[in-house]
Amino acid sequence: MSAAICRHCSHSKVNRPRGLCWSCYYTPGVKDLYPSTSKYARRGVGNFTGNAPLAPVPTTAAPGTPEKLAVLEARAKLKQALFHPADARYAGDPRPHEFLKARPAVA
Ligand SMILES: [Zn+2]
Repeated sequence: MSAAICRHCSHSKVNRPRGLCWSCYYTPGVKDLYPSTSKYARRGVGNFTGNAPLAPVPTTAAPGTPEKLAVLEARAKLKQALFHPADARYAGDPRPHEFLKARPAVA
């Protein structure tokens, strides 16, 4: 085994599964571009990308945080789209809050 270079950014050393570096692996969407390289890997809840309904609310969790990963996992279980257009893109991103303010309150 030689020191592999990330398949996505071709820059950093691979230290996450799928031949990805840490930052690419935890960047939303990137991991999905690279199928698992392990025949033992769990295949998740199935591939339903493209026709899944949006989650009703965006998340304030920043990409790459354990909170965001938990949100993605919950959405996957609910067969919802993993990424919401108003999801926070960095810690403290006001986007999710603006989205929630702009829509009618849910009782
Ligand atoms: Zn990378």
